[in-house]
Amino acid sequence: MIYFDHNATAPMLPEARQAWLEAAEKFIGNPSSPHRIGSRADAALSDARERLASFLGCDALDIVWTSGATEASNMVLHHFAQLAPAQSEAWISAIEHPCVLETAKSYFSKRLLLIPAHRSGVINIHWIRERLAHSRPAFIALMAANNETGVLQPWREALALCRESGVPLFCDATQWIGKLPATGLGECDFVSGSAHKFGGPKGVGFLKCPAKGRVEPLLYGGKQEEGRRAGTENVAGVLSMVAALEIREVTMRRTREDGDLKMENRGLTQSSSSSSAFSCSPVFGSSALTQRLNWREQFERQLLSSLPGAAIIGAEAPRIWHTISALMPEADCQQRWVVKLDKLGFAVSTGSACASGREEPSHVLRAMGHSTADTSRVLRFSSGWETREEDWDALLAALAKLSRRS
Ligand code: PLP
Repeated sequence: MIYFDHNATAPMLPEARQAWLEAAEKFIGNPSSPHRIGSRADAALSDARERLASFLGCDALDIVWTSGATEASNMVLHHFAQLAPAQSEAWISAIEHPCVLETAKSYFSKRLLLIPAHRSGVINIHWIRERLAHSRPAFIALMAANNETGVLQPWREALALCRESGVPLFCDATQWIGKLPATGLGECDFVSGSAHKFGGPKGVGFLKCPAKGRVEPLLYGGKQEEGRRAGTENVAGVLSMVAALEIREVTMRRTREDGDLKMENRGLTQSSSSSSAFSCSPVFGSSALTQRLNWREQFERQLLSSLPGAAIIGAEAPRIWHTISALMPEADCQQRWVVKLDKLGFAVSTGSACASGREEPSHVLRAMGHSTADTSRVLRFSSGWETREEDWDALLAALAKLSRRS
């Protein structure tokens, strides 16, 4: 089976598995226990905190270990719902993952304002700028890279606007971390990430939140994580996650002598009429990334030429190297494509991990102005670091074969 559903979850890296096994054997104590066995586990967590913080560019104490990005998002929304003034609004981008959007609806209800997106899939940064000129929300939430379309979002620009206005920014970086360098994300007030999206184990993630200042806990019943998250920490999971991230970060740092920084100009820094000019750099300087972006672009070109009527969603926007959201020709609905591709040995998806198999049209595509009919024609191909050029070729051949049959 060839796996093209990495945005749902990615296979575990052998090094991450090894780190997990070693940690499970070596750190048997509870990190909160006062004896040396407990202290050793606690020291291992502190070391992992330092390592993650060095990638994000923040203080180690800003990191809280969680069970994943869903919990981290819930923590942020819960925090603001408890501490923000009663009338204050939450401004959330219309294309957020349901773990942000649904939680925000439940906590903020009528006080929730959706930041609109352009047809390109990029949120409207002018909307934020204009509104901030006369009002202040409790916080703003903008993801780094969209899980359905791969469209990169102007979180740096949003951060600058938030800084000027004294408004906290929450960035769900789940699809960015481990795929693009994490550097700079730590400047956002709140950042979430999840190990299983980049080769770590499932059920572990983190929230970067301000160490100084109060964070209202979501889980009560223990003083772990400086009182910010009760519950015994998943020591082996955390060490395995950080081991996976280290491998991804090292891969991204490996730059070629001939300097392929020009990749930044291939849709990674962009200026378009539908969205403000924004920069996602420092991003592509790594030959590993360049190569994967080339494969994705080549696949897209060939897909469009071999399947008349197909289109790439968000084609005009800067997009992360591993995600393609394709509007398939009208002949067949997305579920049938998924089943037929599965029979041919390819795992693909109809949308986000959580939206897969669901009947409702994707809120992301709807926010981009696509019709309900369009949303039922979309397939998502999400590759990973281990995906090879020949895997893309094989997928293309399978799609062409199925399209000839229909
Ligand atoms: N945020 C984004 C952008 C995601 O893609 C996902 C998973 O699909 C999540 C959050 C939820 O992550 P987790 O599985 O760690 O709860």
